[in-house]
Amino acid sequence: MKIQRETMWEAVVQCNAMYDGCFYYAVKTTGIFCRPSCKSKTPKQENVEFFFHIAEALQKGYRPCKRCRPDLDQSTYDPNHEVIQKVQHILENEYDKPWTLQTLSKRIGMSSYHLQRLFKNKTGISPKQYLYHIRIEQAKRLLLQGEKNNTEICFLVGFNDTAHFYHVFRKLTGFSPLAFKHQHS
Ligand SMILES: [Zn+2]
Repeated sequence: MKIQRETMWEAVVQCNAMYDGCFYYAVKTTGIFCRPSCKSKTPKQENVEFFFHIAEALQKGYRPCKRCRPDLDQSTYDPNHEVIQKVQHILENEYDKPWTLQTLSKRIGMSSYHLQRLFKNKTGISPKQYLYHIRIEQAKRLLLQGEKNNTEICFLVGFNDTAHFYHVFRKLTGFSPLAFKHQHS
């Protein structure tokens, strides 16, 4: 999934660990690159460059931050990390399916209890919340495209109930779908 620049910037401002491993941000003025979750001071937006791979950041001459150590992520093999990535990959590609924790854990081959715990531990949110993030990202994209109405978008992104869709949308964006569209177009 391609993450929008705006979303990446939000993740940096919020130090959102959910996006760790998805992208890195580098600060032109310091020459250092970080994970989204890094607790260092939020840089000025105009000084930030985004990368999807560590190699790209290194190639451009950025050094890994000593605080969040983005360079350590890939050099140490962590089987749990692989599980998390697998879950994220499945949800990002099949977000419109009616996932439950049970069907997801069956697909991964792990108990629901363990999956929930592991995912939450590593990302700070549950698989379900992650799924909602993906769905709302897609919904935002479709809303701004302007070809589908709210009800169509609700079902396209995987919700089966418009009231629930509106509820989640408002919770994650702070806007109703209509207000979001007005605000951003
Ligand atoms: Zn950092």
